[in-house]
Order: sequence, then C-alpha cells, then structure tokens
Amino acid sequence: MVKKYFISSLLLLSAHLGADEVYPVAIIGSGIGGLTAGIYLGRANIKSLVIEGPKPGGALAQSPSVQNWPGELDIPGHELIEKIHNQAEKSGTQFSQEEVVSVDFSKRPFTLKLRDPFDASKTRSISAKQCIIATGATPKLLGIPGEEKYWSKGVYTCALCDGTLYRDKVVAVVGGGDSAVTEAHYLSKIAKKVIVFVRKPALRGVEETRRNEVLHTPNVEIHYQTTVEEVKGTEDGVTQLIVKDQNGKEFPVATDALFLAIGANPNTEIFKGQVELDPLGYVVLKDHQMTSVDGVMAIGDVTGGICKQAVCAASEGAIASIQVESVKPIAESPKAFSDEVVEITSEEQFQQEITGANSNVYIDFYATWCGPCKMLKPRFDNWAKTMKGKNKFLKVNVDKVRGLSEKYKIRAMPTMIVLDEKGNVVNRKEGTHEICKHMDAAIPVQ
Ligand SMILES: Cc1cc2nc3c(=O)[nH]c(=O)nc-3n(C[C@H](O)[C@H](O)[C@H](O)COP(=O)(O)OP(=O)(O)OC[C@H]3O[C@@H](n4cnc5c(N)ncnc54)[C@H](O)[C@@H]3O)c2cc1C
Repeated sequence: MVKKYFISSLLLLSAHLGADEVYPVAIIGSGIGGLTAGIYLGRANIKSLVIEGPKPGGALAQSPSVQNWPGELDIPGHELIEKIHNQAEKSGTQFSQEEVVSVDFSKRPFTLKLRDPFDASKTRSISAKQCIIATGATPKLLGIPGEEKYWSKGVYTCALCDGTLYRDKVVAVVGGGDSAVTEAHYLSKIAKKVIVFVRKPALRGVEETRRNEVLHTPNVEIHYQTTVEEVKGTEDGVTQLIVKDQNGKEFPVATDALFLAIGANPNTEIFKGQVELDPLGYVVLKDHQMTSVDGVMAIGDVTGGICKQAVCAASEGAIASIQVESVKPIAESPKAFSDEVVEITSEEQFQQEITGANSNVYIDFYATWCGPCKMLKPRFDNWAKTMKGKNKFLKVNVDKVRGLSEKYKIRAMPTMIVLDEKGNVVNRKEGTHEICKHMDAAIPVQ
C-alpha cells in the first residue's frame, strides 16, 4: 500500500515554472509538514513548489495504522497522506519529484539545485524567494538481523504511534537516553511488561525525576550493559530477541515488539553552513518557524522539537505559511530602466514616464527637419545603452508634442533637458556640440 502511494505520486507530472521564473515559495520535503504548508499557502493564493525528495509522503506513509490524527479513528498512513496530497494539489500546490542536492541561502532569491529521481546525472537549478525546510529526520537503526524483516511488524521507532497495538503484551525498548525513558514510560501504561535494554552501565542525559519515575514503575525492567543482537519471530510478527550481556553471553528474551529509541539523524546535510544547526544537526528556530536566515522557515521533525508527531508537523506547516505571508517582501533592487530611448507621443505618456523615476531623465528634443538632430540620434541612443538602464532616456518630436516643447521653452534644435527624480530641470544643453560635450563628460552617468 505504501508502494501504491509512491507510484501514484510518481505519476504526477512535475510542474515547473519557466527557467528564469522565481518561485514565491519552495517547500523542501513532502511529508505531512510540507504538504500542510502547501495547502495553507495555496489557500492564501501564494504559489508554492513542493520538492518531494527520496520519500514522497514522508515518514507517516510508512505507518500502517495512524490512530492519533484528529478525525480519523484508525487510518493507514499512506491513505492519510494521499488525502492531504490531493488537498494540497487542489489548492494549487505544484509538485516536483526531484531531490534537493544543495541550496544557496546566502542571497535572495535563494537557489536550489535539484536532482532527477530517475537519472542522478540530471540536475537543474531553481530560484525561490522563500523556502520551507521540511526534510524530517531518519530514525537510527541497530542494523541487526531481523530488524528490517520485522520493520512495522513488531519493530518500530515510535511508541506514541504504534504502542497501542501492544496493549497487555510484553514489549522491549532499546536505548539509554531521554527518548528511551519517555518511550518506556509511555509503554508502561499500555503494555503488561516493558523491558529496557541499555548498552551503557547507566541511563544518560535523563532528568532525575523522570529517571526515578521509570525506575520505580513496577512493570518496567531495565537491563544495563546489554545489547540486542537479533530479532526473531513468525509470520505474525516478533516473538523473541537475542540479547548479549556484559560477559558476552547471548540469551533469548520473549517479547511481542521492539521499540528503537536510539535517536534520529535530522536530514540536514544539505543545509550545513546555510542555516544555523544545533550540535545534533537539527535546524535551530528563532521566531516560531523562522530559521537564522530571513525568509527560510523549518517545520516538523527536522527542527528536533519535543513533539515528533504528524499533528505537530502539520501545525508547524500552517504556522510557517503564515510567516511566509507576513515576511517582508524582498527589497526590490532599484528598477532598472530600459536602455532603449523611449519615443514620447503625448504629454500623458511623458507624465507617466517621469512619474516615479528614481533617477535622472534625459530628454532629447528633436525635429525631423533638423540635420544635426539626425547626426545626434545614434550617439544619444548609444549613450543611453552605456548607462545600462541606470537613467531614463526619452525623445520628443517638437512638432508632434507641442505642449512639451512649449513647457520647456525649446528654442534651438537639438536641445537636451535633464530632469531630476522630482521632475525639476537640472541641466539644459543646446546644439549638438554642447550635448556631445556633456555626454562625453558624463560617462558613466550615476
Ligand atoms: C514508522 C513510523 C510511524 C509513525 N506513525 C505515526 C503515527 O501513527 N502518528 C503520528 O502522529 N506520527 C507518526 N510518526 C511520526 C510522523 O510520521 C512524523 O512526526 C512526521 O511524518 C514528520 O513530518 P515531517 O513533514 O516533518 O517529515 P517527514 O514526514 O519525515 O518527511 C520528510 C520529507 O522530506 C523529504 N526530503 C528529505 N530530504 C530531502 C531532500 N534533500 N530534498 C527533497 N526532499 C527531501 C522526504 O522525501 C520526505 O518527503 C511515525 C513515524 C514513523 C517513522
């Protein structure tokens, strides 16, 4: 069934903007966090691209039974994800099946390099004004025989997600840190017996109260300096673990499930040096979902918050999308003018051209019957090009737009008038010689 979701996802056409177009928001990751952000952005009429990555649908798609999603008593993870994926698509979210292989958050718009999922040699780059990191975390595994075979059939990484399947059964937890204690404590309320295997001689990094609480829970049994070596079972699931004690002696332990609580690796390799990460590699948050880089948000399991659950990733996706909307827009670089000289045909057009000009406006007043004006034209056009859009250049036929030639008291041909950004005349040159002298002296005009 997980496969079904994956295939249906692969069949979706990737939607790409034109090569030079900038995505308003790129969402890296298609787990429940990324998809929810897509829904909220779509509803706010903000175009987003979800880059699905190596696990379309994310971690939840692997869960055979989700029982803590509001509104669903018990739903396979891939079904829930498929619904949310469809909802995101309907709200206008675009999808790409690629994987992000590198990012450049040093300047905006941000650049993301994407790799084709079917041909690793094919890459392309896209730009995005804002980014949401939703790449999740990969639970650490023991790498022992049977672990993969019984994955989701007795071997799990989340007691909160799958613990209820083992009401009144015997379960094992492996790990000696805070998450192992949390998992054991949670399971102790459901299971008949919880056996914890700790590799070290003591629990580490666990608050004293919490440690005492678990140590005094009657149905929790802790074995120190013991490692789990193998998971055994039948077609129905796990029945036994082979464990090794501090003397190297191996012995079987009957159990119905094994919960791995040995940590997770945040999927942040590509963000190293781009956003602030904590010592374990999780993205550090500054203001709600905002990271150390303005315009880059992070949500869900990749942030290493205390709630590694679907509902939390979804809610952070919603918060990030609200932050996207409220983030101040990228400061536009001063609008470059065309390096072409604009022919003015009316006073209204002239007014529009000079209104809001944030630089000087050079106006060449000419007449078709004026020989020197014809000679000046190519020089004036080339001069405009050397300014590379830093100033505005207009030309006015004095016989056609008489109102302007009267307004600026044009008495000689050609005449060049220079206006400042407020439309005041700041310079006036008459005759080809004067105008050319000014142009030669002014290159490049600032
Ligand atoms: C087996 C299992 C069962 C679970 N069951 C439950 C449950 O019943 N209830 C519950 O509430 N929670 C459950 N959880 C936890 C829950 O799934 C997670 O908390 C949740 O999925 C986190 O969502 P996320 O969006 O942060 O990341 P994820 O769902 O992990 O998604 C990460 C996404 O990032 C993408 N990605 C990674 N790297 C890249 C890259 N370089 N470029 C592009 N994309 C990238 C991946 O392809 C993936 O789509 C379970 C977890 C597991 C592993």
